[in-house]
Amino acid sequence: MTDQLTGLYNRHSLSHLLPKYFNSTSGHTTPLSLMVLDIDHFKHINDTYGHTCGDDVLKKFGQLISSSFRSEDLVARYGGEEFVVLMAHAPIEHALEKAEELRKYIESHLIEGLKITISIGIASADSHAAFETLFNQADSALYNAKNSGRNQTIIYPVNSIAV
Ligand code: GH3
Ligand code: MG
Ligand code: MG
Repeated sequence: MTDQLTGLYNRHSLSHLLPKYFNSTSGHTTPLSLMVLDIDHFKHINDTYGHTCGDDVLKKFGQLISSSFRSEDLVARYGGEEFVVLMAHAPIEHALEKAEELRKYIESHLIEGLKITISIGIASADSHAAFETLFNQADSALYNAKNSGRNQTIIYPVNSIAV
């Protein structure tokens, strides 16, 4: 259930945790927002400073995001340097505000002595939407954030609001 490096929930644990957010019969969690966060040019950190340093950055980043959200929100390491946050009762405007707060904090503080930036994709829906749908939407927004120069938050649909 738990990712060894960061102590966050891992991708595997999502199947156990998602029903709380996506149960359509007792779906009290609307509106629901999903964020995918990915460290920019992380490979460069590993290549330049070593894998151990990369691990330390991931650990610190994991701590930072888990302390940035409410206990009812779900923070997980989805894989590599990609993290997912499910925000219960959060309309997209609120998710965007939180994402930008976090992105700007990261941009302006050293993490393990290094300057890093992150890109974020967000999607929002009612609790009847499948996780996969919401994830794919947020991931396509993230893809756009990467292609638009990184260090930014984009919400799905990608041409609606770009920050
Ligand atoms: P982008 O800005 O497009 O996201 O570029 P990127 O370099 O961050 O992305 P890419 O997918 O090319 O590289 C991700 C790197 O993350 C490659 C992989 O070796 C590294 N990585 C994945 N898991 C771990 C880990 O647990 N520890 C460390 N140190 N590195 C990891
Ligand atoms: Mg990356
Ligand atoms: Mg990645």
